[in-house]
Amino acid sequence: MNLKFSERANEIKASEIRELLKLTERPELISFAGGLPAPELFPVDNMKKIAYKVVEEQGKEALQYSTTEGYTPLRQTIVDQRLKPAGINVTVDNILITSGSQQALEFTAKLFIDKDDVIICESPSYLGAINAFKAYQPKFVEVPMDDDGMIIEELEKKLREYPNAKFIYTIPDFQNPTGKTLSVERRKRLADIAGQYEIPVVEDSPYAELIFEGNRYPTIKSFDNSGYVIHLGTYSKTFCPGLRIGWVCAHKDILQKYVLIKQGADLQCSTIDQRITAQFMKEYNLDEHISKIIEVYRNRRNIMIESMQKFFPSEVKYTLSKGGLFTWVELKKELNTKKILEEALEEKVAFVPGGSFFPNGGNENYFRLNYSNMSEEKIVEGIKRLGKVLSKYY
Ligand code: PMP
Repeated sequence: MNLKFSERANEIKASEIRELLKLTERPELISFAGGLPAPELFPVDNMKKIAYKVVEEQGKEALQYSTTEGYTPLRQTIVDQRLKPAGINVTVDNILITSGSQQALEFTAKLFIDKDDVIICESPSYLGAINAFKAYQPKFVEVPMDDDGMIIEELEKKLREYPNAKFIYTIPDFQNPTGKTLSVERRKRLADIAGQYEIPVVEDSPYAELIFEGNRYPTIKSFDNSGYVIHLGTYSKTFCPGLRIGWVCAHKDILQKYVLIKQGADLQCSTIDQRITAQFMKEYNLDEHISKIIEVYRNRRNIMIESMQKFFPSEVKYTLSKGGLFTWVELKKELNTKKILEEALEEKVAFVPGGSFFPNGGNENYFRLNYSNMSEEKIVEGIKRLGKVLSKYY
């Protein structure tokens, strides 16, 4: 065929890793590759009742078109239940419902990036965001991280070097992929930098509530005096990703633009799904549900760390994530985890090689492990198998 795709579409390529990871669908394989919540924790019975009730009582409205901004009672619930406790004092007028936070990332790219624009992100960063941004052909500038997240001195150097950068993208809580968390001091500074340099800071925060130890850190948005911090949230990791309900929380002048983009993209999120979600949040306590999730994930994290201590060569380094879904493993510099993945797949265990989380490439000696989606027994067995593969190199 002779198809004249846009430059943008030509830029989008299926990754070789994706092809490899298709193998992870085989049932005998132990996969630490995805980022899926544990399906046994979904509140299936309660959802059945709620879904029935919504159709029974609000059928005509639930099956109709509705506003682009989203179902107002759901936006109010997000403001009251999710944002106020995070120190974010806003009204429904600051909220747009999106199809997961993934859609908010795509819209962020559409809203800010022209070809060759500079955008700034952590090194490494979330693969789904990198791919969403990449389609708009930016230049990625990566800021190194330490155990407290993005290093602010390094960020300021980049801001001086690239004064026209369009936005800063950060995942401050239990980052995907590293599991690292941005310190409170750095959150304050990031909010100040947003105002001082007049550059939006996009705070992508799907994991903030999945805390295993200690207290929740204040959001960057809670320190925002300038209006330049855009906060993205989602019910995907704390409730059900299949509903595809996320939100953008931003200053009205910014939000208006997101709304126009949403209108052009899909008019609105599913009315019935928004109403079901709102009804669930009215009748049940999501905080209690999150406590159950935390309990299970904390155990799985513990088992994974204990197993790594037991089965991995002692020189291998990994993060001790204090929440979220992931831990991040660092091997000797000369090793290539894409190649090691091939061997791991032969042992029927999978992970995501780290290189793809660096938008400008390199860093092939890292990999990401997910602990939320496998049973404790499978975690032990999978890490044992991985340890066997890694031992060949140490
Ligand atoms: N941001 C980050 C950092 C993520 O890890 C994910 C999901 N893996 C998303 C956004 C997208 O989540 P969703 O669209 O399901 O809300």
